[in-house]
Amino acid sequence: NITDTDWVGLLERAKELPGNPKGADLRFDGQVAIVTGAGGGLGRAYALLLGSLGASVVVNDLGGSAVGSGSDKRAADVVVDEIVRAGGKAVANYDSVEEGEKVVETAIKAFGRVDILVNNAGILRDKSFVRMTDADWDLVQRVHLRGTYKVTKAAWPYLVKQKYGRIVNTASAVGLYGNFGQANYSAAKLGILGLTNTIALEGRKYNIIANTIAPNAGTRMTATIMPPEMVEALKPDYVAPLVAFLAHNECPDSGKVFEVGSGWIANVRRQRSGGVGFPIDRPLAPESIAAKWAQVIDFEDGRATYPTSAQESLQSIYGNYLAQQEAG
Ligand code: NAD
Repeated sequence: NITDTDWVGLLERAKELPGNPKGADLRFDGQVAIVTGAGGGLGRAYALLLGSLGASVVVNDLGGSAVGSGSDKRAADVVVDEIVRAGGKAVANYDSVEEGEKVVETAIKAFGRVDILVNNAGILRDKSFVRMTDADWDLVQRVHLRGTYKVTKAAWPYLVKQKYGRIVNTASAVGLYGNFGQANYSAAKLGILGLTNTIALEGRKYNIIANTIAPNAGTRMTATIMPPEMVEALKPDYVAPLVAFLAHNECPDSGKVFEVGSGWIANVRRQRSGGVGFPIDRPLAPESIAAKWAQVIDFEDGRATYPTSAQESLQSIYGNYLAQQEAG
């Protein structure tokens, strides 16, 4: 458990450190990147980094509140200004990601192409499930899951045609593990992971790579749950270099999910227990399952695996059928 005092110390030490080194070789000259929700927080850090590494950037941001109300062009404009003043190229787009085709149209009109798409825009409508309204549910699905779908769908034909694309989508640890008060958000975030895993498969033959991140950083989104010192210390700059790497030609992986924050990066995969194959030549009783339950959920018997595809997952199911038929 880290105390508030620890955070203050960490912040003081962070102030003395030099800035993150900028990769000398991993550049994006001649490439065009769309970053959604880039008017603040994590998206801003991604846009600034990609812009400083030579990419032409579309800074998309609706400029609404953290719960998704209102709009303000200044959010995107300020970040475009920052990139341009630092010698980079950027244009603003103020549409909601729900109107993905308009976001992509801005890239095509301004720069003639799109190579990189970082789907990052997001809002929160946290409520315990008992208090959650349809409006809370729908708006969060629309911005996160449908927004990611719409912008990706609009960019896809350009990526396919040029046989090149890098997509970084944003999930959350909350989607992977669940969290009290975030049923709408965790559903949308895990939906984004499913979407990304499938387009990673469909994009492979077109050299389109798609990965998912579950980031953690101090932003206005986390300011309501983190102490101020922590918000200040856990800079989005610790996340941005992973996004740049996943957006680069040299990224070797697709369809993976990474937890990232505070300068720490890890890959998450799914583990499946060895399972229990029940006989199929007689009715399977719930009591039989109860009797073997400890074995169903046993990951420590040396038979657990890490399936990496739906095919691999199904093999065990068909395998049981064949094994039981042979045994019978
Ligand atoms: P943030 O609120 O600082 O930034 C989100 C940005 O998205 C805002 O600038 C907002 O105006 C913009 N936006 C909201 N709705 C939009 C819409 N419909 N169209 C276009 N832009 C819109 O939050 P953040 O912490 O930087 O979050 C960025 C992403 O990372 C989100 O998808 C969030 O769910 C995810 N995330 C963040 C954390 C964290 O620790 N900060 C943790 C897990 C996931």
